[in-house]
Amino acid sequence: MAVILDGKMLAKRLEEETLQRVQKLKEKNITPGLAFILVGEDPASVVYVRSKNKACERCGIRNVTVHLPETITQEELENELGKLARDPEIHGMLLQLPIPKHLDEAAAIACIPPEKDVDGFHQMNAGTLVNGTPGLRACTPLGIMDLVKLSGVETRGRHAVVIGRSAIVGKPAALLLLEADCTVTICHSKTVDLKSYTRQADILVSAVGKAGLITGDMVKPGAVVIDAGIARVDGKVVGDVDRESVESVAGYLSPVPGGCGPMTIAELMVNTVDIAEGRYRG
Ligand code: NAP
Repeated sequence: MAVILDGKMLAKRLEEETLQRVQKLKEKNITPGLAFILVGEDPASVVYVRSKNKACERCGIRNVTVHLPETITQEELENELGKLARDPEIHGMLLQLPIPKHLDEAAAIACIPPEKDVDGFHQMNAGTLVNGTPGLRACTPLGIMDLVKLSGVETRGRHAVVIGRSAIVGKPAALLLLEADCTVTICHSKTVDLKSYTRQADILVSAVGKAGLITGDMVKPGAVVIDAGIARVDGKVVGDVDRESVESVAGYLSPVPGGCGPMTIAELMVNTVDIAEGRYRG
């Protein structure tokens, strides 16, 4: 049976370490500040921001939520982002995605200074990841890497297969695995015979959002399986992995819920404190 990679427990540990770092910063009169920009009333976004607010409270991070109306114009949104960009007490800024369709997401993200881009979505930070230079990294891929590390499995020379090629999960996760000396294959919706790739994976990361996509027959015995997907089945949150069939084949498995979800939030706290301490992780 696979060892379950307990993201909830690991996230708690990371948050406790973050709180200690925040206490040290406060002794130097620095209080890390994180601003959330929420546009409209998308229920999932409201819930996500609320849970990130709570994590900030647990870690002693000052957090501000700027809740803007659905009807805001691009210019007004960029003005609001500009104010936070200039505020020296705000170390990190997070624009909760998605934003309403009439707004230009890329242009809005470009208004976040790269050194305050806690989500690691700014083109500058994405570029540093490609170049292998220091920069802020996206939180879900950081959480994926910490879960791989938790397994204790050596990454060097291992074959990692990532399913999903988005700019926020799949691609950065693949680049971080490459940085950790894995040989990396990226699969996506046009991949022919997905199973022929997944069966070769020593480390399998699934970031799709399709319940039951990964079944036991697609997994190499003993593999590390990280499930970053989120889907809903009968009102229940599930991942991409069919836990029942995969659990008896994989060596390690990150569950949904309780795997990548809490890790993503914990990494956000770490990124914020890294910025407040004046250093980037790269
Ligand atoms: P996305 O932009 O929709 O990307 C999904 C990727 O999956 C795409 O690259 C797509 O391929 C690929 N794909 C779709 N169907 C496939 C199939 N049948 N076989 C192989 N690949 C397939 O989503 P995302 O933003 O990357 O997020 C991925 C998942 O992670 C979602 O479930 C999301 O909710 C979850 N997520 C979780 C967290 C967290 O905190 N735990 C954070 C962010 C995202 P194409 O490129 O060809 O379309």
